[in-house]
Amino acid sequence: KNDPKLSLTHRIIIGMVAGIGLGVLLQSFFAESVLVKDYLVDGALNIVGSIFVASLKMLVVPLVFVSLVCGVSSMKDTARLGRLGGKTVLLYLATTAIAISLAMAVALLVRPGTGMELSSETSFVAKEAPSLSQVVINMFPDNPIASMAQGNMLQIIVFALLFGIAIAISGEPGKRISKLFEDFNVVIMKLVTILMNLAPYGVFALLAKLFFGIGFGAIASLLSYFMVVLVVLLLHSLIIYPSLLKVLTGLSPMLFIKKMREAIVFAFSTASSNATIPVTMETATHKLGVRNSTASFTIPLGATINMDGTSIMQGVATIFIATVYGIDLTAGNFLMVIVTATLASVGTAGVPGVGLITLAMVLQQVGLPVEGIALIIGVDRLLDMVRTAVNITGDSMVTVAVAKSEGDLNIETYNNPLAGLSEE
Ligand code: ASP
Repeated sequence: KNDPKLSLTHRIIIGMVAGIGLGVLLQSFFAESVLVKDYLVDGALNIVGSIFVASLKMLVVPLVFVSLVCGVSSMKDTARLGRLGGKTVLLYLATTAIAISLAMAVALLVRPGTGMELSSETSFVAKEAPSLSQVVINMFPDNPIASMAQGNMLQIIVFALLFGIAIAISGEPGKRISKLFEDFNVVIMKLVTILMNLAPYGVFALLAKLFFGIGFGAIASLLSYFMVVLVVLLLHSLIIYPSLLKVLTGLSPMLFIKKMREAIVFAFSTASSNATIPVTMETATHKLGVRNSTASFTIPLGATINMDGTSIMQGVATIFIATVYGIDLTAGNFLMVIVTATLASVGTAGVPGVGLITLAMVLQQVGLPVEGIALIIGVDRLLDMVRTAVNITGDSMVTVAVAKSEGDLNIETYNNPLAGLSEE
């Protein structure tokens, strides 16, 4: 059967490969050409890519708010909500702790940075990372409209939860509002589908521009660091997640990875878990079979508080910087890194490059020089793309596990390789 939606996934992947190819080609042969840089890369490709990311982001706030209100208002008992939240947060923290422990273990074995010369002109000014108490206070909006305007995900989640609960206990008026939100939800999901159909072009333009700008030269000098981060990211997503999924749910990990492909390409091209939320949610509900009431809560939450890929980079970076500066870390330091990196990911949104900011916090915690970040900043963009893909894979894995344990997973949909592809 010739399925147009099936070919969409393929078209997006073709867009990705072609974009990377063009970017590398242009960089290799036309790096000096003003024409190519000004008109093609910073002109046409930049316009298409930026519009693509903007339109994804445009969907995030309305989508999260509306679908979460729908989900919560349809929940019959609120105790379930507490259980769902508890399990989700626990799994998010646990997977992050596993990720960073694995990263540090591998980094300690390989010791990237050994014998590297310290150039004198490293400087990096760290931006403030929020303190933990501030993170907790900040979860509660004093003005929900402002939260939405700023795209503050945790505040939007809290407001939507309260609003949804109020709808659920408001009797007749609540039912009417709830119906309205359900209609809204259908319309917004349609909008997601429309934009997804333009994705091949957006992904192509974005990646061509990015790969034109990536400093492959920088990678060569930081190869050991780069490779260790990459290998641990792959280990975590291809071994740890599938094993956890198997143990927690008994479902097929192969199907999971296969169904994640599209979302992974989006995360890779945008380097933002937040911007990818519409696609991750579509994947979770339509392809993996998670009920909307669960996915609309766990996915946006995960995009904000669960960053396994980011913590892997931080684990390796900590060891790398300590090695380069010749500083010995104690067992207590390692523990401190695990705790700080896990908690640091909670307070920061999934947007490009944020991992470096929280890394500053981690380094400070264990007394390592924050300027060390300047050493790795040159290769961060490419790693950012890969770790964002890992971040959203982790969000989805936990979502499936929690949904399964709550009876919110449609196993038939999960096991159907074509699910989510047939409509449209
Ligand atoms: N870009 C990552 C994300 O959105 C965060 C980071 O590691 O910088 O998940």
